[in-house]
Amino acid sequence: MSDNSPAHHAQLAQQYLPDALLEQLRERADRYDRDNAFFDEDLADLQATGYLSVLVPTEYGGPGLSLNEVSRLQQRLASAAPATALAINMHLMCVGVVRVMHERGDTSMNFVFDEAKAGEIFAFGISEPANDWVLQDSNSTATSTDDGGYRVSGVKIFTSLSPVWTRLIVHGRDANDETRLVYGFVRRDAEGVTISDDWDVMGMRASHSRATILRDARMNPEHVARYVPVGQHPDLLVFAITSCFQLLVASVYAGVAHRALELAAAGLHARRSTKTGSSYAEIGEFRTRLADAHMAYMAVPAQIETYCRDLDELVDHGAGWPLRLVSARVNASDAARRTAEVALQCAGGSGFSNSHELSRLMRDATASLFHPPSVDAARPMYAAALLDDEVHPVRR
Ligand SMILES: Cc1cc2nc3c(=O)[nH]c(=O)nc-3n(C[C@H](O)[C@H](O)[C@H](O)COP(=O)(O)OP(=O)(O)OC[C@H]3O[C@@H](n4cnc5c(N)ncnc54)[C@H](O)[C@@H]3O)c2cc1C
Repeated sequence: MSDNSPAHHAQLAQQYLPDALLEQLRERADRYDRDNAFFDEDLADLQATGYLSVLVPTEYGGPGLSLNEVSRLQQRLASAAPATALAINMHLMCVGVVRVMHERGDTSMNFVFDEAKAGEIFAFGISEPANDWVLQDSNSTATSTDDGGYRVSGVKIFTSLSPVWTRLIVHGRDANDETRLVYGFVRRDAEGVTISDDWDVMGMRASHSRATILRDARMNPEHVARYVPVGQHPDLLVFAITSCFQLLVASVYAGVAHRALELAAAGLHARRSTKTGSSYAEIGEFRTRLADAHMAYMAVPAQIETYCRDLDELVDHGAGWPLRLVSARVNASDAARRTAEVALQCAGGSGFSNSHELSRLMRDATASLFHPPSVDAARPMYAAALLDDEVHPVRR
């Protein structure tokens, strides 16, 4: 069992995201957002601290940090630079997926560890226009080639890290067998890969999550990772993607919520009321508002940590896993948006200025509305767990 003491997490924080670097990332986040620029300098700094290899196991030459340790680091990174954290998440998630599988005895994708150590940057090309099945189906097509590889055609939307990724995990329906999906990696230098230059969005701008268009893009035989039946079937790869995605995305929005609380408190200290002659930090209504946001936030990192540690310790929640994972991400997302709003109320009109960090934080938090599954898509699962099933997975 890994060390979970505050001192240990603080040591990792200083090793991978030292205070001085964090402040630089925060300053750059404002510039990247304003200029709609990708986070090139942040990436170089994170590569220099070894951040992109944190999940590579020790036997593959990495530090082998646990998901819980990485979640803490991602919360810290997101508190300074949400878009950088969200985009780096996609690389970390790809390595994390292979780690989850490796720890459960499936080593079929372990080549990812070697490639990550060699400096390859992984991205996540799963979202497609109008594919609300997400992982369980695809409107891309994968056509087999004589050498055991595939040619993939389709549109992947919101590919974070679009200026720099070198390996993109994608899925597509197998043209020879419509009942199954092919999962694998496409190299950036493969023929038939086009990256859209259309990117001008409301928040998380530095992530440059532009669309990727695949036209018969080659997936080499050694990069074909897995076949998964179309539809809802238990599969280790799908479980690994779901768990890493939900918990690491939750970590980003938990970091956003934490920063919003800090800015809310700073906002109250900075304002004085002419009416009462006191600081806003002494006004009951504002103290209550901030206290409520703080109390609600406390449950968010606690939930993320519990599930990260369960995943690290191979706890088997069976059918109860999706309920846990999705609620961790939804709660963190809600906390980010609500806390950003409270922080704006506490900071007053100055927070509304585009020169204020809070205005960016509010826009970045809004991106949390779009990560799958949406609350509407998730609700039936929660209702069914209590109302329809003979065995209630939530109580397992
Ligand atoms: C900041 C951010 C980063 C994300 N990063 C990733 C990631 O790295 N990997 C990933 O798989 N998912 C990523 N997602 C996607 C996300 O998880 C959702 O799956 C996505 O928002 C889909 O939303 P939707 O179903 O509402 O999209 P839709 O409403 O179906 O489409 C959303 C947008 O996609 C674009 N689009 C639609 N059709 C086309 C087309 N044919 N060609 C080009 N563009 C088109 C349009 O701009 C459209 O507004 C990210 C989302 C956000 C907000």
